[in-house]
Parts: sequence; structure tokens; C-alpha cells
Amino acid sequence: MTPIIGTIATIVLAILYGLPAHAVVSFFLVGGTTALGVTVGFHRLFTHRSFATSKFVEWTLMVLGCMAGQSAPFFWIATHRTHHQHSDEDGDPHSPHVREGLPLGFWRGFWHAHSGWVLTEVQYSADSISDLNRRPDLVWINRHWVVWYLVGLGIPAAIGFLVGGTLYDALIGLLCGGLLRQFVALQVTFAVNSITHIWGAQPFQTGDQSRNNFLVGLLALGEGWHNNHHAFPYSACHGLHWYQPDVTWCLIWALERVGLVWQVKRPRLRQ
Ligand SMILES: [Zn+2]
Ligand SMILES: [Zn+2]
Repeated sequence: MTPIIGTIATIVLAILYGLPAHAVVSFFLVGGTTALGVTVGFHRLFTHRSFATSKFVEWTLMVLGCMAGQSAPFFWIATHRTHHQHSDEDGDPHSPHVREGLPLGFWRGFWHAHSGWVLTEVQYSADSISDLNRRPDLVWINRHWVVWYLVGLGIPAAIGFLVGGTLYDALIGLLCGGLLRQFVALQVTFAVNSITHIWGAQPFQTGDQSRNNFLVGLLALGEGWHNNHHAFPYSACHGLHWYQPDVTWCLIWALERVGLVWQVKRPRLRQ
């Protein structure tokens, strides 16, 4: 609810009192950095173990993901592992096609996959994240995820105050670079759950309804090549062709080149 109120407040205040450049810069800068915490960290590293890295990089990625404000990391990861285990079947927490064994109509299904599932009680096995629970350092970051989230709101507010020098600059920084960017990033993440299980190409027979969707691929930093991802869930690379941009993969590739990540898994494509 907070990001929705923040989004409305941003629009109203921007119309009435203006939107300073620092707030727009914070929106993209904090938004992009924290989104990569989710896509590189929560998803490709912690959920799928598609590469290995040092503890310092792991901590950095998990903290950045927490700042995105999408939930506690262990919950995010457990939910997503459950999604891959039961994709579009009974047990999938956010399929647009089935819920608790019953088929869903189009609009009810879209709503459930996009946002409605967040309001339900998501079931997952503690065993599904036993690897994470064995790591006291990651357990500590997970337990304090709200603190990191608040830090993620405080940074654009501080930038606003330092650059603009007034309390309004701090407030609009907090709203635009904090809550509006959280709202937008949440919609994009939700679109991976809803849109990319409904609309798009399905080059691989994966036994589920996962799709490659160009728009989501672009906006979600490569996460919208979702049929590719279901076909090769272990792969750090989701965009398989030049016309499938995958910003998340570009970063992992660059980190591999400078030696910050290793054992990077690539898809085993048959020629
Ligand atoms: Zn999926
Ligand atoms: Zn996945």
C-alpha cells in the first residue's frame, strides 16, 4: 500500500511544486541498482545458483535486492523456487492459469498472477531454502531486510537534501526515487509472473505456459525471456539472441571478465 500512496503523492506534488532533476536521476539510479540486486542477486545467484561469487558480492547483491522492497529475500527465493517446481500446476504460487488445482478464467488469472497472489498465504517448504538457512550471514541480512529497505528510501531523500538543500527536495527525492521507483519495479516484476506466462513466443517445449515477451524482456532487464529461462533455469544468460537484450546477463558477463564472479553457467543449446 505504501508504494501506491507514494506514487500518487509523487504525481500530485510534482504537478503542484515541480519535479527536480535529482529526483528523476535517483529514480533511474536507485531503481536500476536495486533492480539488479533482484535480478542478478535474488534471482540468478540465490534462486538458481547460475554463478558463484565471493561473500562480499553476495552480501552486496542481497542488500541491494532488499532495498528494492519486494519482500524478504528468503521468501522471494523460496516462492520463486516453488514456482519453477510446480510451474502452471497445482502448487504454483502465481500461475495465471491454475490456483489450488482449479483452472482460472482470463481476468481472474491475470489478477491472481500479477498481484492477487501476494494477498494469499504462500506455502513453501523450509527445505527449499535449506542452503540459505545454513548461512548465518545471509540469515542476518534476511532478518533485517526492512532496515535495508528503509536505507533504500533514505538514500534518494539524502541526495535530494544534499543537492537541493530544502526539505521539499528531500521529500520529493524520497517519494520519486524511493516509493515511485519501488512501485514501478514491483509492477515490472509482477509482469514477469503474469504477462510472460500468457503472451509471447514459446520456442521451447517446457511443459508450462512460459513465454518470451519483448517488452517485459526490455523493462525487466532480461527477465522477460521467460520461456528461455524455464528451458534453461540454471543459466545465467536468459537472452539467447542479439535481439533478446539481457542487461542482467551483460552485468554478470562483465563481472566474470573482471574476476568478481565465476563458474558462470551458460545454456546448453543443441545445434
Ligand atoms: Zn515462470
Ligand atoms: Zn527463475
